Amino acid sequence: MSEHRLFFAFWPDEATRAALEAARAGLFPLSGRPVEPANLHVTVAFLGGVEASRLERLAALAGPVAPFTIAFDRLELWRKPKVLTATSSQPAPRAAAIVDGLWQRLDRLGFARDPRPFVPHVTLARDVRSVRPGLRWTTVAWTVDRVCLVESTVAEAGVRYLPLA
Ligand code: ATP
Ligand code: MG
Repeated sequence: MSEHRLFFAFWPDEATRAALEAARAGLFPLSGRPVEPANLHVTVAFLGGVEASRLERLAALAGPVAPFTIAFDRLELWRKPKVLTATSSQPAPRAAAIVDGLWQRLDRLGFARDPRPFVPHVTLARDVRSVRPGLRWTTVAWTVDRVCLVESTVAEAGVRYLPLA
């Protein structure tokens, strides 16, 4: 039986991805491993390993949402997971509602929600223990218009995320 490592995400369009990359380029040199540009995303709901037979039901939960914008306007170093993230100083009620609605449906399919509150964030680099003082981040306004189901795969070049639906 084959398992797929899955999560739901906000997946950037090309312009948003380019803006994230450009903003991050302004932070270099960084002490950790930058996330591959093609992998930059916002995790909405992490599922973990899922049987292939369940893919179709899950894919049906992905799709368009009424557009809204999140301003990723600050940097945070999360010391325990050692990730450098872009976050928002504003609450994101629309994103939170999407996450809640998704988890209601996932709950019925037997998936368990992480008890930690949802914090929209873009992981920019991993294995970051410290950053230079005075790092400047350029705000990235990200307009969300869909939720994607994404598969996390491991290739020779490292982890790679592939949007499925
Ligand atoms: P690696 O685990 O090899 O460092 P990764 O974390 O980039 O790679 P995955 O573990 O497949 O890749 O994670 C996919 C996405 O889901 C990432 O955004 C990751 O931060 C998030 N994620 C992973 N595990 C959890 C979890 N237990 N709860 C919430 N989000 C998670
Ligand atoms: Mg991981």
